[in-house]
Amino acid sequence: QRKKLGKLKKTPAITQDGVEVTLLANIELPEDAAHALDAGASGVGLFRSEFLFMERSGQEHKLPSEEEQFEAYRAAVLGMKGRPVTIRTLDVGADKPLDTTEHNILNPALGLRAIRYCLTEPQLFLTQLRAILRASAFGPVKILIPMMAHSFEIDQTLNLIAQAKKELQAESKEFDANVPVGAMIEIPAAALALPMFVKKLDFLSIGTNDLIQYTLAIDRADHEVAHLYDDLHPAILQLLHTIVTTAEKAEIPVSICGGMAGDVRLTRLLTGMGFRELSMPAALLPEIKQAILNTHLENVQPYVKKILRSYEPVVIRETLAAMEMLGQ
Ligand code: PEP
Ligand code: MG
Repeated sequence: QRKKLGKLKKTPAITQDGVEVTLLANIELPEDAAHALDAGASGVGLFRSEFLFMERSGQEHKLPSEEEQFEAYRAAVLGMKGRPVTIRTLDVGADKPLDTTEHNILNPALGLRAIRYCLTEPQLFLTQLRAILRASAFGPVKILIPMMAHSFEIDQTLNLIAQAKKELQAESKEFDANVPVGAMIEIPAAALALPMFVKKLDFLSIGTNDLIQYTLAIDRADHEVAHLYDDLHPAILQLLHTIVTTAEKAEIPVSICGGMAGDVRLTRLLTGMGFRELSMPAALLPEIKQAILNTHLENVQPYVKKILRSYEPVVIRETLAAMEMLGQ
């Protein structure tokens, strides 16, 4: 069993008809890079940087310094040994509260979270951007911005990145001048207005956890509505399809880094829709790879088409089950 897993680790994720799918890992701590490598990940598709900022009650400073962040990001970059590391900027608020933020907000999921919060705290944001840029001198880094919805948010973010670069240059600090910048697509408005993003950014990454929350209007932290959380809802499938086809036309890379990417029940559907990059917790990577190795993309196409044409939950589920049986 062990030997089999070891061999699987080195095998690229290629379908039976020769289509390669890039499998990446989601990490929360720099140390997780070791697990990502162990699982055979081609890189880190999502480094949730929140952990550095949360639960700091025992520490002297409420916020991590540039130096502290730089050390953490560099450790992740070095840990991945030359593979790309996508670092997501601070995504606080809602289910990820900061010690220093207001707690009694009426609708935290719709409030001042993620990029919205960062743009109201430019100094805090600049400190993080500088730390990430400095880490990019040690290996390939990409910057990923969460919760983007507005055109001005892209512009302000790109301006702040340019400012951080200028500062570092003036201080003779090294960084990769061409570090790619991408947006999380996790607000339905962003998915529907995708052309707004494709011209200004280098890549996109879909956060299905929030995309489902906002599309179906169900708080992902509220157990009383957990039964309404449905990744196979036709609205979700249509949005994903819109994103992948629009991104393909615009020739901008798009990945999925939300929970759907690590759900083996959905691997054939997502790859059949055209997704070629999936990022997930490292522990799930081997079974997703196995599913890709067992998939013949051309054979699943008719099933995927049928699912995307259907607005009947029963038909969608039955077709998905039939597709799972293919080549088993
Ligand atoms: C998502 O929303 O799907 C996502 C990947 O980000 P998070 O779960 O950290 O909000
Ligand atoms: Mg999210």
